[in-house]
Amino acid sequence: MGADAEFSSSPGASVTGEMLARGHEQVVFVADRGSGLRAVIAVHSTALGPSLGGVRFWSYATEADAVRDVLRLSEAMTYKAAVAGLHQGGGKAVVLLDEPDAPHTEPMLRALGRAIDELGGRYLAAEDVGATPADMEALARVTPWATGVGVAAGGSGDPSPVTAYGVVQAMRAVALHLDGAPDLGGRRVAVQGVGHVGAHLARMLVDAGARVVVADVRHERAAAVAAGLAGAEVVGAGDILALECDVLAPCALGAVLTHETVADLGCRAVCGAANNQLADETVEDALVARGITYVPDFVANAGGIINIAEEFTGYSRERALARTASIFETVGRVFDAASARRVTPGRAAVLLAQERIAREGSGRRWQPGDPAAWTDGAPLRSLRP
Ligand code: NAD
Repeated sequence: MGADAEFSSSPGASVTGEMLARGHEQVVFVADRGSGLRAVIAVHSTALGPSLGGVRFWSYATEADAVRDVLRLSEAMTYKAAVAGLHQGGGKAVVLLDEPDAPHTEPMLRALGRAIDELGGRYLAAEDVGATPADMEALARVTPWATGVGVAAGGSGDPSPVTAYGVVQAMRAVALHLDGAPDLGGRRVAVQGVGHVGAHLARMLVDAGARVVVADVRHERAAAVAAGLAGAEVVGAGDILALECDVLAPCALGAVLTHETVADLGCRAVCGAANNQLADETVEDALVARGITYVPDFVANAGGIINIAEEFTGYSRERALARTASIFETVGRVFDAASARRVTPGRAAVLLAQERIAREGSGRRWQPGDPAAWTDGAPLRSLRP
């Protein structure tokens, strides 16, 4: 396989070596001659239950980059689910596109759906970068193990209000940690990016009495969101990071926190929805050195997967929101573990996740037909009859 040769030039040495190092259970390579589909599905862990993770459509420079991405992202999903208290594991799929805007053809999606179906529920597909609701619906026509479809089709619809609600809970925990009370009233919060999550977040924060400042590279979008919210301000996208505020909420793209940007931050804490906010792990040390409290992104934005997990018990938005409220306690536990062990919150969150897996799921691998804990002992419910 081509990826092996490319891996041999990296410290990870080989795909199977990398799987051993990271603890992956299974990696499935999919190549479908008829449709031209090339994809990789990685199941990192099913110790706590079926693995869940997004399908990413991306044009990678090399196949090794794609494999590295799917291994890294599926492992991260395991920790995200475990620390969120979910009874599921981590997985991810990547579809290798020849060029960024290559069409996601129906035959490709059918072939991917069949590959997901063959895993019998060990991998539950969700939406990720590059995937559209139409893609998820095409997968769902082939396999019951695809989530993220509309409410009418038995799914949970747009997760972003639940994700935003979870970020608010995380911010309340930050307020408690910094000042001894979880009240957001009067706090100045800077929201970077007011797309799906950011716009809901800004509204919820205003409702909670916070003073909200928004920015978006699409300035007209930020202006429109602020216009609908009492007292909200708008600043340019280039000014939001340095703004003097209590909390900065990154809700745009990843890698926004670099050694350079951290030096200029004007906030006391960072707590937002964007995935992979740290350009690399060492940036969290820079935040600590500046005395800025950081809520690990995968803890703050877990509302998205908590919401999807609800699809398998017959979706209820009320229940999804009630479960998402637990992010408040989770963030408190992460801060406590970080100070007790003298590590950063990001490292503490991963340790808590690994310890939970060792305690509750050690040696277990979820198999098709096994009950999933969150269904109260019933077999995992197929989303569609
Ligand atoms: P979105 O595409 O709807 O919104 C992103 C917004 O950020 C857009 O309005 C875009 O114009 C703006 N933006 C991009 N670069 C910017 C910059 N440099 N400065 C200011 N604004 C910028 O995406 P979304 O669904 O709201 O998700 C936001 C982030 O949260 C992403 O990183 C996503 O992976 C993560 N996330 C989302 C969910 C969810 O439920 N949608 C769940 C978990 C994590």
